[in-house]
Amino acid sequence: ASVTVRSSSHDYEVLIGKGLRHNLVEFISSGYTSILVITDSTVKDHYLQDVKESLSEATPVFTAVVPAGESSKSMVRYEELLDSCVDVKLDRKSLIIALGGGMIGDLAGFVASTYLRGIDYIQMPTTILAHDSSVGGKVAINHPKGKNLIGSFYHPVKVIYDIETMETLPESEIRSGYGEVIKHAFLSDEDWAHRLLKGKLSELSVKQLESDIMKGIQVKASIVEKDEREAGIRKYLNLGHTLAHAIEAELGYGEITHGEAVAVGLLFMMKLSNELKGAQLPIQAYKEWLDDNNYPVSVLTRIRPDRMLERMMLDKKTLRRKINFVLLHELSDPYVVEIEEAQLLEQMSLLINEVS
Ligand code: NAD
Ligand code: ZN
Repeated sequence: ASVTVRSSSHDYEVLIGKGLRHNLVEFISSGYTSILVITDSTVKDHYLQDVKESLSEATPVFTAVVPAGESSKSMVRYEELLDSCVDVKLDRKSLIIALGGGMIGDLAGFVASTYLRGIDYIQMPTTILAHDSSVGGKVAINHPKGKNLIGSFYHPVKVIYDIETMETLPESEIRSGYGEVIKHAFLSDEDWAHRLLKGKLSELSVKQLESDIMKGIQVKASIVEKDEREAGIRKYLNLGHTLAHAIEAELGYGEITHGEAVAVGLLFMMKLSNELKGAQLPIQAYKEWLDDNNYPVSVLTRIRPDRMLERMMLDKKTLRRKINFVLLHELSDPYVVEIEEAQLLEQMSLLINEVS
């Protein structure tokens, strides 16, 4: 299957399928002078060999490996990777392949966007969450004071999504990926959302996974195409994220995965939509789905509403101390609204009580 993404610089294809990593020569132009595969220490053990073996023998292939984990999205690793680019003499006709999850996609994409003022890169996502990060052109590294503070908009020339690589994902990463999948369903398609709520992640088939990833990418791509630089509707993609970012920052990154935090943020979004704006979102069914799939909803009992509010104020997307939330009138009907601090505090306390 494939999805075409249109961006202001160029259109590119997202190929989705089983075992694509074994046939890379078919999908990658033979015109590159050299290739640098950037990956992390965990993904390397699983898939680097397959990827190297399936690239053309006519083109020199180099590799660079960074430690697995969010802390590699740093200035230090970025510099090291630039050193590798220089050492192996990548030129303007060279290609970078980002083989890994969202961390590698963001880091290697940022290297590609700045080395020689930008060279081609291909995303080869290996996590479910990366269905989100590999499309849309946002690449970045973190600053000690905040996530993704240093980055650019830079689209890949292609995304090659080998669904088979998801077989080695730990449970927590499957949950994390599905936090963003269900967000995309809530934003776009009531039937799909209900279907997801009826299923269990532990019983997920490869066919289902492939279809969910493809639908998620279509939602993301269609929103990003209409609003590349987040002037308007791209904000909808922040559904569930206002609280999620605050939780991640409060608990410390790594305590809970990004997508798990988003899943909890979506619960708060439902609460606000229903209690303050009269929506009738299926909050009970969603709570059960979260429980059945072991999402860490109990983190809510470890946070303090007043501290969450302060964190939301500090969010780089908060302007002039106004906290804007993306809410839903109903499934597939998002809007942005400003919510008063007192109401946020009250609803958060209520939710914390409900889940305690
Ligand atoms: P990740 O890349 O850190 O991967 C999570 C863990 O899974 C890592 O330990 C990794 O080594 C391991 N892993 C990856 N693939 C595997 C596989 N196939 N089998 C076994 N283990 C595997 O994290 P992620 O959740 O994929 O992505 C999170 C990152 O994405 C964050 O840095 C976030 O900021 C970024 N992100 C970016 C965007 C964007 O638009 N650019 C959107 C969402 C998230
Ligand atoms: Zn997200």
